[in-house]
Amino acid sequence: MNKFLDDVLLECGEGWYDLISEWADEVEKLYKENNVEISDLGILQIKEKYGGLRIYLGFDFESDFSLNERIFEITDKYEEKSYHICEICGKSGHLSQKGGIFKTLCDEHRDDFGFIKLDDKERE
Ligand SMILES: [Zn+2]
Repeated sequence: MNKFLDDVLLECGEGWYDLISEWADEVEKLYKENNVEISDLGILQIKEKYGGLRIYLGFDFESDFSLNERIFEITDKYEEKSYHICEICGKSGHLSQKGGIFKTLCDEHRDDFGFIKLDDKERE
């Protein structure tokens, strides 16, 4: 995992670690291109919510607005990707439900945990 995430608690399953690492690589690259220190990126929280990855960021008021917009775009893209990756094992997954709980799971883990597969349109 990327060094600047060392102090960040990842409140999700290990199946998404590669995804988070890819996100971090892309953000780091963009910061480097813009000569901004990656330590300026404030990560408030990285967690699972309603079956999807959520990355909460905080910026100080001095920071570059257009750069922040691009960071949010990148982050949205990875949050969207998480709905297709099993949070447990990292294989191809689908949003699934068990009572009031939502998780993105592969076929195997969905069966293991007794979840039901949802159609993509049910997320909206
Ligand atoms: Zn799985």
